[in-house]
Amino acid sequence: MTDPYRIERERMVKTQLKKRGIRNSRVLEAFKRVPRHHFIPKKLADQAYADGPLAIGESQTISQPYMVAIMTQSAEIVPGNRVLEIGSGSGYQCAILAELGAEVYTIERIPALCEQARKTLRRLNYQDIHSRAGNGTLGWEEEAPFDAILITAGAPEIPKPLLDQLAIGGRLVVPLEEDYSQVLYIVRRSKEGFHRERGERCTFVPLIGKHGWKKDPRA
Ligand code: SAM
Repeated sequence: MTDPYRIERERMVKTQLKKRGIRNSRVLEAFKRVPRHHFIPKKLADQAYADGPLAIGESQTISQPYMVAIMTQSAEIVPGNRVLEIGSGSGYQCAILAELGAEVYTIERIPALCEQARKTLRRLNYQDIHSRAGNGTLGWEEEAPFDAILITAGAPEIPKPLLDQLAIGGRLVVPLEEDYSQVLYIVRRSKEGFHRERGERCTFVPLIGKHGWKKDPRA
């Protein structure tokens, strides 16, 4: 079947991802395959491959493609990894992780978005994605430990349950509040403990819940 967006997707990979330093060829190939236009409201389809986040309803967003890419590359996913995503949103990040061969667990706070993402992923035939609606700051204890955890919403600090659920050798990627804006952090767990690396500035909607913001700081 011809895909009217294939060329736009390739352009997105070249001009937004490669140009800004995304080098992992498996990550770049995954972005060429996932049809982002299926993860957004139909009326925005002509902006599907634009260089920014888009509204998906419920005051939430699908993240900028570059942000999804830098988080994915930083998580160093290899096939067979068990990966937990907090903030399913549209389901797009899940699809990218599935394309990399991960077994994906994803939690979304807003039930309507959880259901919508589930439907989209099912329609596109993504397997190995387990999703549930709930407070992701508590993690998914029954399925822990995870090789990678991606928190796709801005947190005041790293939720302790998520650190506990990271495997030894695992990577956790999280946007953290810093000086009234956000910075991406990559946390690695070794036998000795946790090592944090500071990444770039970013802007995400807030992580709300017991170990996140107590209420939406935008309200
Ligand atoms: N990863 C998503 C995608 O690919 O479309 C984008 C995520 S959007 C930037 C952040 C999401 O985190 C929102 O859908 C929001 O409802 C969700 N969220 C916020 N706090 C949460 C929590 N405690 N647990 C689970 N999801 C949460």
